[in-house]
Amino acid sequence: APALEVRDLTKTYATGVQALKGVSLQVEPGDFFALLGPNGAGKSTLIGILSSLVNASSGEVQIFGRSVHRDRGGAMQLIGLVPQELNFNQFECPFDICVNQAGFYGIPRRIACERAEKYLRQLSLWEKKDVAARTLSGGMKRRLMIARAMMNEPRLLILDEPTAGVDIEIRRSMWKFVSEINRAGTTVILTTHYLEEAEQLCRNIAIIDKGNIIENTSMKQLLAKL
Ligand code: ADP
Ligand code: ADP
Repeated sequence: APALEVRDLTKTYATGVQALKGVSLQVEPGDFFALLGPNGAGKSTLIGILSSLVNASSGEVQIFGRSVHRDRGGAMQLIGLVPQELNFNQFECPFDICVNQAGFYGIPRRIACERAEKYLRQLSLWEKKDVAARTLSGGMKRRLMIARAMMNEPRLLILDEPTAGVDIEIRRSMWKFVSEINRAGTTVILTTHYLEEAEQLCRNIAIIDKGNIIENTSMKQLLAKL
């Protein structure tokens, strides 16, 4: 099964805004996929539906063959989500933040501790494992969000505008880490409104505008066209 299959997805908010107008797309296992579009295009709405935070109005979403509607729990086990905002407890330390996240998935404590070590090391946060998260640099906080999202060892990692408002240095270091995660076998989808960002990293891309997919191609083909 594809890592992600979206068919004829629509979302109309209670306000009457049609955020998605019939979106279809497919992401293959192992891909590094960009969803590019301007503000208001529907990116966050789509990510919200993929991660079960938003209900679709119609259409179908499957994660590795599991329907987000009919098998929500099963689909969610396969996803790691890195939201835009830093939403961890700033007074907790990275180690506890990761271990507690594993607790949500019912992962036994011994395994949770092993994984916390693995991912905090991988994201160069191990030496900061015991300090309050609020004392971390901006880049470290972003990396902590990624480490936490890896605690259930997701097959699909979704990052919603992961570099919004961060400087070029932090951005580069984040990409290094996310690329490593992708190379280790995790499918990655990120949203962005910078083509240059997608260009550096992603193999395939969909462009969304006003709730419609207006392009869905390989990065190579897109760049050849521009
Ligand atoms: P993007 O993430 O690409 O900026 P969004 O999915 O946030 O786009 O928004 C798509 C459209 O849906 C916009 O017109 C936005 O104002 C609207 N929208 C987003 N969230 C809500 C909501 N909770 N209620 C009503 N309208 C919303
Ligand atoms: P984005 O993630 O695209 O930057 P915002 O930060 O503007 O979106 O949205 C903040 C919150 O407000 C989100 O929960 C979003 O769903 C909601 N929201 C966004 N646009 C609207 C809207 N037009 N009407 C109602 N809620 C909205």
